Amino acid sequence: MTNTTCAECGSEITISNDVESGEILDCDICGIELEVIGVDPIELSKAPELEEDWGE
Ligand SMILES: [Zn+2]
Repeated sequence: MTNTTCAECGSEITISNDVESGEILDCDICGIELEVIGVDPIELSKAPELEEDWGE
């Protein structure tokens, strides 16, 4: 496991070592979605807020 900090609230987040770039994680504290943009070292960025567009 690896620890990093939330880009939003600064809380410590534990990430498993087999996380892959592009995965989306949720911060347990503030609930924001964080996208893994790098794994060596672990780098997180706030996931873009996607509008749910179900079309049709
Ligand atoms: Zn947070």
